Amino acid sequence: MIVLNYHELVEASPSNAWCLTHETFDAHLALCGDRLVSPQTFLEHCPDPKASRTGAVLLTFDDGFLSDYTHVYARYVTTGRIPGFMSFIPVDFVGAPGRMNWEMIEEISRDGVAIGSHGMAHVDLTTVSDVELGRELTVSKSMLEDRLGRQVALFAFPYGRFSRRVWDAALRAGYTHLFTIQLGYHRGFEPFLYSRLCLTNNMDAEYMRQHLFDPDAMRGFAWRISSRLGIYRQLMRLRYR
Ligand SMILES: [Zn+2]
Repeated sequence: MIVLNYHELVEASPSNAWCLTHETFDAHLALCGDRLVSPQTFLEHCPDPKASRTGAVLLTFDDGFLSDYTHVYARYVTTGRIPGFMSFIPVDFVGAPGRMNWEMIEEISRDGVAIGSHGMAHVDLTTVSDVELGRELTVSKSMLEDRLGRQVALFAFPYGRFSRRVWDAALRAGYTHLFTIQLGYHRGFEPFLYSRLCLTNNMDAEYMRQHLFDPDAMRGFAWRISSRLGIYRQLMRLRYR
């Protein structure tokens, strides 16, 4: 399965590289066709190695932008055009200008959107103290769970930055699925890590098409050689230790 990662969607004039227009998002949906799956379907099948290399596509959105609610949920989920998505919330940003408030997050979580934590203040977790790391992971989890009345076991690393110390702390905090920014199919180099393609507005539709149809081809020479030699996991463990 392939996991796509978006941020804010706007009508026109994106303010930064991670902000995409509605038109670009529509073009991506057209490329995905009927391959989109719900978060529930993804979570049921993601541990199965056989299912993992299917072309199914999961949509995820980071940072709790208002467009998760006003655009993706209101225009696509409620009309059945997409079968839900994952939304990763930095809890300190809830209710800030341009971001969803708690009522919106509660509403979408009851209706096909799987809510995950994106920490509290959207900090690079590899740079903070153990105390701060624990707070980012556990306080965000408990605040989301209190609001939503359900367990929150999904976590996306802010800026896609992580290390072994960070993932160990996240697992200890009770998260089971940790989402990174890496190319390829969804299965990361550890069973609890999930790779996502982060879309930016300097990627054209052809790039997206290539990734959807041959995600492994996008990962490059070093990945191909180390995978063939069976040492990719060890290399990644060294890199992220
Ligand atoms: Zn983020």
